[in-house]
Amino acid sequence: MSSKTTDQQKALFQLVSSITASLTASSGAEMDATIDQALAKIGQFFAADRSYLFLFDDEFRFASNTHEWCEPGVSSQQPYLQQLDTTSFSGWMEPFQQGEPLAIDDIRTLAPDSPERQLLEPQGIQSVIMLPVMAGSSLLGMVGLDIVRSVHPWQEHTIAALQLLAANLASGLIRKDTERQVEKLAFYDSLTMLPNRRFLYELLHQALKQSERDKMCGALLLIDLDHFKNLNDSLGHQQGDVYLQAIAGRIQAQLADGDTIARQGGDEFIVLLTNLGTTLSDAAMQSKRVAELILAQLSQPVQLQDCLYQTSVSIGMTLFNGLGRSGDELIKQAEMAMYRAKGAGRNGIAFFDPQMQAHADQRAMLSQDLHTALRECQFQLHYQPMVKQDKVVAVEALLRWQHPSHGMVSPGIFIPFAEQTGLIVAIGDWVLQDACQQLARWQQQPELSRLTCAVNISAFQFSQVDFVEKVVAAIIGSGVDPQGLKLELTESMLATDIAMVQEKMGKLQTLGVSFSLDDFGTGYSSLSYLHQLPISQLKIDQKFVRNIHLQQGNLAITKAILALADSLDLDVVAEGVETSDELQQLKLLGCCSFQGYYFSRPVQADSIFDKVTQPLNVVALRQSRQQNHGQDKA
Ligand code: C2E
Ligand code: MG
Ligand code: MG
Repeated sequence: MSSKTTDQQKALFQLVSSITASLTASSGAEMDATIDQALAKIGQFFAADRSYLFLFDDEFRFASNTHEWCEPGVSSQQPYLQQLDTTSFSGWMEPFQQGEPLAIDDIRTLAPDSPERQLLEPQGIQSVIMLPVMAGSSLLGMVGLDIVRSVHPWQEHTIAALQLLAANLASGLIRKDTERQVEKLAFYDSLTMLPNRRFLYELLHQALKQSERDKMCGALLLIDLDHFKNLNDSLGHQQGDVYLQAIAGRIQAQLADGDTIARQGGDEFIVLLTNLGTTLSDAAMQSKRVAELILAQLSQPVQLQDCLYQTSVSIGMTLFNGLGRSGDELIKQAEMAMYRAKGAGRNGIAFFDPQMQAHADQRAMLSQDLHTALRECQFQLHYQPMVKQDKVVAVEALLRWQHPSHGMVSPGIFIPFAEQTGLIVAIGDWVLQDACQQLARWQQQPELSRLTCAVNISAFQFSQVDFVEKVVAAIIGSGVDPQGLKLELTESMLATDIAMVQEKMGKLQTLGVSFSLDDFGTGYSSLSYLHQLPISQLKIDQKFVRNIHLQQGNLAITKAILALADSLDLDVVAEGVETSDELQQLKLLGCCSFQGYYFSRPVQADSIFDKVTQPLNVVALRQSRQQNHGQDKA
């Protein structure tokens, strides 16, 4: 799920995954009770009036309400909804056959004389959602929710989550129906109890539709054991089976909730990864990481009856983003990639798309390079002055990476990457320590003793349990006076767990550390945290400062931010001031602190003395827009 996922969405997906887990764990005999519980939970979650499951007969002539949950006080419809003629909702049958859900926010939008409206209206229903329950391509029934008391807008993520539930209900029903529908049982591999090839196709199809809907990429990994035949030939099929079961367990252990492993037959497994981010390059990096974990796990020996047996695997991977490729095509692509991995000497990973391969390799290299950078001190901090009443009163520490072969790499490139890989924690520690040491040195100089130094903190860094201890260690280690230290946070990190955020900020504030909200106006707009947290400064994002004298929109937002800050008694710094026009306009609005190329680019620490003690030599930048962030000049 994306970082924009709301709490409500998260709660829904958690609920659905807990329900699907109980459906998966239920035996056929327990299934009716499990389905009843599932309907109750889903119904309660949406404050619905009824939730239900209908099953169709083999010819789709009748539908019968087999399971129902009603909100207390709402009358049960189940007795009246047996052997219901499907012609009374014939308009829905075709979409159902195609696997399409039906969400009607307000039934008054249906034609007054339509059979569907005539079916729903007498039941008092205002809003309804119904999802087909499919086994492979065959329709078994439908699951739905009625809202009697109000109209309800059904959102995409809700529909997606309920579809997931419907898919799991289908496999639950199939399990329940073993005797009558023996062939439908054949959805799981009997040796490993993993979904088999046929079920995988269904799951893959669902995953592609989901990816199309929420614009998230996924990956398909084909894992083939190298020389598995040797094991069967030398130790016998029974030992071969034990080995395959062990391998299945190990692969599964590397997967996240929502990922799927299936056995495609013989010694081949398929892994389906979803929610790998919105770009193919992110997906390439993430899926490669999973593949590497699997590769490492599977190269460990497995204990068989009389011996430890060890072999390797070859993994072929392909990525998807929406419905561009069919399941069949993707499996073929993964197969081709797998043969390439075998061709390259086995025990390896290959992407179908050579470009993706290059990309993933490049990212892997960047990750290596960042580790090296930390070890070999290739990082440096530059400092950009912040100006108040024509005086430099503070600086912001900005990280610079002097790469041995690529030259100066902009933090805009490597910080997001370091955040994704978790390396930001180690990098952030270094930044804190180095900035505190520098500030402590400045505090020794009378001219600079009152200088404030702002340090950027990443969301992931801030969320670490030992974040406060790390800051305290940097303060003690450097001997800096914490009154001079300001931490720049961003809005998005405050919107998470407010109690945790309050506790961390509170502890640091007691020491004298202050807080600024960076890039203000670009993130979450819930302003409630401004009252609740010890924030003393807002930094207006440079996006709003840009051409503020010409752009009404930017002017209006900046005005609003200044008014808000005034009412909450907060300082405001305008970031990215490049021209005197921008500066004049900001001053007219009452803003009095500024940062930007107009006053100074970020410079090395030893240039700060001059910036503070000498009159500022301002430079208006007319063609600055194309200039590279990385090319800071002292
Ligand atoms: P930020 O914290 O909003 O920093 C301001 C960015 O705007 C800096 O880019 C600065 O060089 C640039 N800037 C300042 N004045 C102007 C101007 O007048 N015009 C233009 N076009 N740009 C201006 P930089 O150094 O490339 O840093 C980019 C971002 O990387 C920072 O945005 C911050 O989010 C992140 N970053 C930098 N250093 C660190 C660090 O030590 N830790 C973490 N977590 N993030 C960092
Ligand atoms: Mg900043
Ligand atoms: Mg900023």
